[in-house]
Amino acid sequence: MTGEPDPEARLMPPPLRDDCFAMPAGVEWTPVEDALALLRTNLAPVTPASALPATETLGRVLARPVTARRANPPTANSAVDGYGFAHASLPSGDPVLPLVAGRAAAGVPFDGTVPPGHAIRILTGAALPDGVDTVILEEEVRTDGSAIAFRAGIKPRANARRAGEDVEAGQTILPAGRLVTAPDLALMAATGVGEVMVRDRLRVAVLSTGDELAEAGEPAAEGQIWDANRPMLLGLLEQFGYAPLDLGRCPDDRGALAAALDRAAEGADAILTSGGASAGDEDHVSALLREAGAMTEWRIALKPGRPLALGLWHGTPVFGLPGNPVAALVCTLIFARPALRVLAGEEWRMPQGFDLPAAFSKSKKPGRREYLRARIRKGRAEVFASEGSGRISGLSWAEGLVELADGAREIAPGDPVRYIPYSSFF
Ligand code: AMP
Ligand code: MG
Repeated sequence: MTGEPDPEARLMPPPLRDDCFAMPAGVEWTPVEDALALLRTNLAPVTPASALPATETLGRVLARPVTARRANPPTANSAVDGYGFAHASLPSGDPVLPLVAGRAAAGVPFDGTVPPGHAIRILTGAALPDGVDTVILEEEVRTDGSAIAFRAGIKPRANARRAGEDVEAGQTILPAGRLVTAPDLALMAATGVGEVMVRDRLRVAVLSTGDELAEAGEPAAEGQIWDANRPMLLGLLEQFGYAPLDLGRCPDDRGALAAALDRAAEGADAILTSGGASAGDEDHVSALLREAGAMTEWRIALKPGRPLALGLWHGTPVFGLPGNPVAALVCTLIFARPALRVLAGEEWRMPQGFDLPAAFSKSKKPGRREYLRARIRKGRAEVFASEGSGRISGLSWAEGLVELADGAREIAPGDPVRYIPYSSFF
């Protein structure tokens, strides 16, 4: 129950547990489902909640369930323009009913009582006057202005909306964890909800690591590549509805990286880094997180995606994504996306895909899940020609992913495959 939200109240969630990213010991390659189940149970909302006028909550996460202040509709009313009467007072045979003076309109109720055997002019949305329980559509009557005539057979309570038939007063209309949609704004307005408790937008810092990186749009020396992950990750966070925090680039230097993570942990609720996440010489993200960040290296049975470095930096969760842009995107969508939802206080939700005939053939190895860059053309799922994880053009070509389950599979054109549009991650 919401109760009266106190505008002064700012509810701070408890910190995450140190072992929230701990993987079960002895596991070589963790199936995607197990990794997701772990994130789901171990993570918790980290954003504070406060009261806001319901009309200002589009795209925000509800911290408490919302209950209707008033029933919808609040009173019984007419669903059509026509004439109202008491059904029980109808004569047998085709009725002819004298009209009472006056009318009932939306917002302008009729004050009197309609006597049995009489009818009243009534418009859509008008409260049913005393003595009226049934409305006949104006197209179904003849009238001379002082009486109406129509065919027998109308059902009791026809064209009348019951008070509370949509929502009862006190009913829970939206659950905690709901991301408020435009139709939700209509529902809250219609049921008299004034203020609700919503969580602050999740602040997510983005940091790119690597000596080879140059800033997009600026000159690059020979041997340098432009930082492609950061604009992509910042863009994704924007589309997720979070508050992205751009932390720039960081060289492969432990001191500089620690300083950047310090800044990130200060200003953000979660951190996405890309690059340096495996166990190589220059993989400082994983090294730092291992030393100081309660890190577990996640070896997930997933292609594309190498080990993902997950840890806490001063209590702030860090998702150490692979540097390869394709792997960075897939790991963000498949792992960081649902995990960020939990941190933001949202309900757990996996992207909804659907089956389509394949426009390709493929022989898939067992033991890991695979995601292919894909799009729909002529009702079939096409995949990008190359699976190379450095092929950024394929990310942009694609409009979604084809998801292939962990087992082996021979796919021929026309076989059903699971397609997940990019939009279902937002
Ligand atoms: P790493 O995970 O640091 O070993 O990087 C793997 C590959 O991804 C290397 O070829 C990097 O140059 C490349 N890479 C790393 N970070 C980025 C980035 N921000 N933008 C584009 N490519 C990157
Ligand atoms: Mg690197």
